[in-house]
Amino acid sequence: MNEYDTVVIGGGMAGASIAALLADHQTVAILEAEDNPGYHATGRSAAFWTESYGGPLVQPLTSASGPFLANPPPNYSAQSFLKKRGALYLGTRAHQVQADQMIADFRDSDVPMQVLNSAQVQQKLPCVLPEWDRAIWEPSCADIDVAALHSAYLRVAKNAGAKLICRARVEHAVWRDYRWQITTSNGRYTSKTLVNAAGAWADQAAIVCGIKPIGITAFRRSIVQLSMSQKTPDDLPLVIGLDGSFYFKPAASGQIWLSPHDETPSPACDTAPEELDIAMAIERLGQVMDWHVKSIEAKWAGLRSFAPDRLPVIGRDKSNPNFFWFAGQGGFGIQTAPAAAELAVSLLVDGLVAPNGINADTYAPMRF
Ligand SMILES: Cc1cc2nc3c(=O)[nH]c(=O)nc-3n(C[C@H](O)[C@H](O)[C@H](O)COP(=O)(O)OP(=O)(O)OC[C@H]3O[C@@H](n4cnc5c(N)ncnc54)[C@H](O)[C@@H]3O)c2cc1C
Repeated sequence: MNEYDTVVIGGGMAGASIAALLADHQTVAILEAEDNPGYHATGRSAAFWTESYGGPLVQPLTSASGPFLANPPPNYSAQSFLKKRGALYLGTRAHQVQADQMIADFRDSDVPMQVLNSAQVQQKLPCVLPEWDRAIWEPSCADIDVAALHSAYLRVAKNAGAKLICRARVEHAVWRDYRWQITTSNGRYTSKTLVNAAGAWADQAAIVCGIKPIGITAFRRSIVQLSMSQKTPDDLPLVIGLDGSFYFKPAASGQIWLSPHDETPSPACDTAPEELDIAMAIERLGQVMDWHVKSIEAKWAGLRSFAPDRLPVIGRDKSNPNFFWFAGQGGFGIQTAPAAAELAVSLLVDGLVAPNGINADTYAPMRF
């Protein structure tokens, strides 16, 4: 039987999280193009939860996701998905404007932030070069166990009866006789509702379903894992340039993950890092830290997909309300997943309400 109440296109964090919550109320299938879900953006992230990341209109989703991630229900995990790290937004005198803007942006929020002096910067980040003396400390930042979170969503979805069907790329769908008739590379399916959780492919997925695209664009982001000539401490913070030109954080075995914070427009694809971006990342690190790179251990890139206003798109399509957008998760789709999925399901199932403090209109596709 290939008939479901809801078919979800894509098995990344977005598709897995919405399926887990929806499967308590409806029959659900996730159709995933790849051999495994999580192969694209979800499996390539920097794995942090930082309330300010993505700006003040994303922050409510991130903050509302915190309690679930820190203290998940037992059917998701016996342990927290978060591990405290703290984030240091770092700059020089030239970045004072960005520091002031950041404080102003979050003044009315509950996000804890502290302006540090240069001695406090040196204490949090030994080996930082002395001109990097401006910083905002965001203590709530944590690492996320992304693989555990993603597999917990898939497991909860499965236990509630949802089906995950891999190697099933949605190639075409038509709305006929009050149902979606869906053709994939792995059979045909029907559903009353179609959820577009196709990440970088979200606009393409809309087009093959006869729905007008929103203008969701994919941008490549690269990460390199480095060994330094001296092991770096495990308890260093996540360090993010106030000018948005780098971030780094400790990885296993005294190594670090470093990104040049690149944002290069890309077609939806199985992307890979460019040598130039990796070289740029290492050069920027040398301008900030008195560290010496010993070797490159690994490098990867993934696609972050953004709507034109860089906010997630969560809600029913204006031309066909049976097509539901769950896309445009940008660089914050992991840290916002619990609240975003709860919001989405509250819009799909009668009688449910949006998470506290979340205004559904901010993310509604109707805004385009
Ligand atoms: C380098 C990098 C660092 C990041 N760091 C962080 C971070 O620290 N914290 C954070 O919160 N977020 C971070 N992000 C962002 C986060 O990874 C994404 O927002 C999130 O993974 C998006 O999940 P998704 O399910 O929408 O997309 P994806 O994981 O890309 O899943 C979409 C799925 O849809 C499938 N699909 C597409 N088209 C079809 C079709 N036609 N039929 C069937 N299946 C289809 C794809 O195969 C894919 O598996 C980062 C991203 C990158 C690239």
